[in-house]
Amino acid sequence: MTYIPHWLEKRYDLTPEKTAIQLKDRTKIPFSKLRQDSLEMAGKLNQIGISQNDHVALLSKNSYEMVTIIHAITYLQATVVLLNTRLTANELLYQYEDSESSFFLYQDDLEEKGTEIQKKHPDQMYSIQTIKQQQSKSFAIPEEMNLEDTFTIIYTSGTTGFPKGVQLTYGNHYWSAASSALNLGLYENDRWLAMLPLFHVSGLSILVRSLLYGMPVHLHESFNLEEAFREITEEGVTIASVVTIMLEQMVDQLGHRSIPDTLRCFLLGGGPAPKPLLEKCKSKDIPVFQSYGMTETASQIVTLSSQDALRKLGSAGKPLFPAQLRIQQEDEGSNRPHETGEIMVKGPMVTKGYYKREEANRKSFDQNWLKTGDLGYLDEDGYLYVVDRRKDLIISGGENVYPAEVESVLKEINEVQDAGVVGTEDDKWGQVPVAFVVGRENQKMDKDRIMEYAGTKLASYKVPKEIYFVDTLPRNASKKLLRSTLLEWTKGIHNHDES
Ligand code: ATP
Ligand code: MG
Repeated sequence: MTYIPHWLEKRYDLTPEKTAIQLKDRTKIPFSKLRQDSLEMAGKLNQIGISQNDHVALLSKNSYEMVTIIHAITYLQATVVLLNTRLTANELLYQYEDSESSFFLYQDDLEEKGTEIQKKHPDQMYSIQTIKQQQSKSFAIPEEMNLEDTFTIIYTSGTTGFPKGVQLTYGNHYWSAASSALNLGLYENDRWLAMLPLFHVSGLSILVRSLLYGMPVHLHESFNLEEAFREITEEGVTIASVVTIMLEQMVDQLGHRSIPDTLRCFLLGGGPAPKPLLEKCKSKDIPVFQSYGMTETASQIVTLSSQDALRKLGSAGKPLFPAQLRIQQEDEGSNRPHETGEIMVKGPMVTKGYYKREEANRKSFDQNWLKTGDLGYLDEDGYLYVVDRRKDLIISGGENVYPAEVESVLKEINEVQDAGVVGTEDDKWGQVPVAFVVGRENQKMDKDRIMEYAGTKLASYKVPKEIYFVDTLPRNASKKLLRSTLLEWTKGIHNHDES
């Protein structure tokens, strides 16, 4: 077992006056106040009965209170189960019970989301306002944290199946933050923009970095384009964590503005990055660092460093300092360049396992290597290129078709706003790719033109054999494309054709 000083206590001791959190209205909260408020919150949570090893579910949008609750839970040595605010009441009930939580803390205006939990566990519900009104009950401030203790349980997005609760220890989070600094460097003036939800590991990891580095976090409830520009141009934000859609909007709406040199990194993660976007950023000198990671790896585990960002466009980079990566190829071999296989990762930021999922744990781990379920390849210099999810691979006439590649080509077409590709059964080829396409507003779309364009960019077996125009694509609470739903749609269309 490895112990470190409690991280907020330590940070308070080192730099009490330094800003920990800067809010949207520019209020600056120093570490001393963050500590004080978190301790007070811990006292109130203790009053309602939360103590060591309890599982405490938290449903909240980003807010200062949410931050203090998360830290308070570390003071009580309990585990926080972070719930996605976009889930339905039934999905929340599932995660609440599956994680064996015994307290449900929720932001007041999200009360309705708790209706299903309310029915079954009425005495376990606490709104944040109610908690704030509690008296504080004293407790012993822990001096240390055991790096092997579970800090968080965060559910996977449920893109490929049922969401699974990922247990992450203090050690996983500690190593993740340390590894990120070893790659991106650490500067005196660093300030990190947090517009991603704290209930995702991508947002939460920014809080942990703030503690380890003594760095201000500019916290927002959610992504807002104008606010993001203001933070970057007026408030001196040096790093911003973004997902593709945020970066796309920023680049599209840049207009006459330019990104100042103070911003040294857009850390891009969470999903595939379309090449046209990366090229646009390159041409506008916007510093984008592509990364690859997942809930199971406590955020990025592979990142493209600044020196390589232009040279290796489209790559997710190399594994962070303490991490390892391997491509498991079909024939038991591994790591042959340019040959696609399953991405396997190992390192101190990787989860010890899913909560209560013996079967999934058996399938997902091979002697401390995590089988990610993603396909990718390494180039001759060992840089990772993520190809797609293994489950979504289409095999057509013996050839592999990766839906993400086809989607990316379709999205190059001006009139196409969004595209999703899946394989349908075919008597001759086994499977063939078909596409669901969302058009841009007021733009007429022509099937033949789309097919023709795809034909100029893709081998013929990759060109969708059918194109369906739809209003929107099915996405989960993390906004990820649900290809499983598209597959159901194709079956519906098929049955309809036959009747
Ligand atoms: P579930 O595991 O429940 O199906 P999920 O995998 O979408 O959901 P997350 O942990 O939120 O849940 O997402 C991690 C996944 O996001 C990765 O496994 C990968 O498929 C995708 N991803 C992350 N970074 C990249 C990247 N740079 N390029 C392509 N895909 C990426
Ligand atoms: Mg996953």
